[in-house]
Amino acid sequence: MLALKNTDTEAFHWLFDMLESVEVGLVVLDQDFRVQAWNGFMENHSGITPGQIRDKVLFDVFPDIPESWLKRKVDSVVTLNTRAFTSWEQRPYLFRFRNSRPITGIEKYMYQNLTISPLTNTRGEVDRVCLLIYDVTEFASSKRALERANEQLAKLSMTDRLTGLLNRGTWENLVDVEFGRYRRYGNPVSLVMFDIDHFKKVNDTHGHLAGDEVIRHTAKITRDSIRQTDSAGRYGGEEFGLILPETDGEGAAIICDRIRMAIEESVVKTTVADIQYTVSVGIAELDSQPENYMQWLQQADEALYEAKEGGRNCVVVYQGWGV
Ligand code: GH3
Ligand code: MG
Ligand code: MG
Repeated sequence: MLALKNTDTEAFHWLFDMLESVEVGLVVLDQDFRVQAWNGFMENHSGITPGQIRDKVLFDVFPDIPESWLKRKVDSVVTLNTRAFTSWEQRPYLFRFRNSRPITGIEKYMYQNLTISPLTNTRGEVDRVCLLIYDVTEFASSKRALERANEQLAKLSMTDRLTGLLNRGTWENLVDVEFGRYRRYGNPVSLVMFDIDHFKKVNDTHGHLAGDEVIRHTAKITRDSIRQTDSAGRYGGEEFGLILPETDGEGAAIICDRIRMAIEESVVKTTVADIQYTVSVGIAELDSQPENYMQWLQQADEALYEAKEGGRNCVVVYQGWGV
């Protein structure tokens, strides 16, 4: 810590120079929030000189500073005679300065940590506070980028690359969750499996890439036809699964027939050909029969098989054949 004698004007001079040029914002406020000191950092980032701001009320010069929040903070600093700290994660910035660092150019404003310290006068009373403003943009920006990357990664590991639908593992977990929920609450819930008809022919005639387009198209129609609370997954190559909570078999058949018809009526325009195709759909409304979610899946799959056997391009609700 620096020790200054009253007579040491030389030291005062260089100390002042140092505070002027340090890469931290330094602001001293009196009890009426009038600015008593304003260093070079503050001048550089705000464009306001110490002469212009001296004795001005801070909130008059910076109207978007949250007045009641800062007053509350300063109040407790003065009353308790102790320092207060706020990080960028609680409040991204106190002074809205543009981000001036070229490498972290993606952030529009400078992220700031803020420290408020009490300053005592010669009588030992706290009559001013000092704000220290730290530019933490680089740190904040890389932390945010990391968080975004992690979110992306978590999402990627749950979804299927080609369609963006849930992948098989994630979707099956949800089937299991819904199965458990039904066991506890007994609300209606239906499971759907559907499969593109004669898809081998699409691949053979138009190629694998056109086939991929058809799979993507199926996913899009499905996504556009269901509610937020429904879950769609890509179960296998050209097989899809749906979980429809709060929906009985009859309701599920209406939704699925809408999807089936939308697909039948649409044309997939690929670079090699305009492709028309159909899907077959199997539905199993959950009742007390299945002992686990896999048996429930099997029921939907059996209904799908019936739909294929019945001529394809149709919807079949599982009825418990053979029981
Ligand atoms: P069906 O009407 O009985 O369903 O006849 P199908 O020809 O569609 O028969 P199946 O469902 O068994 O066809 C699966 C085909 O899907 C075989 C495989 O080559 C193709 N396939 C699986 N995954 C993909 C994929 O990701 N892209 C493409 N283009 N084709 C795929
Ligand atoms: Mg098929
Ligand atoms: Mg198949």
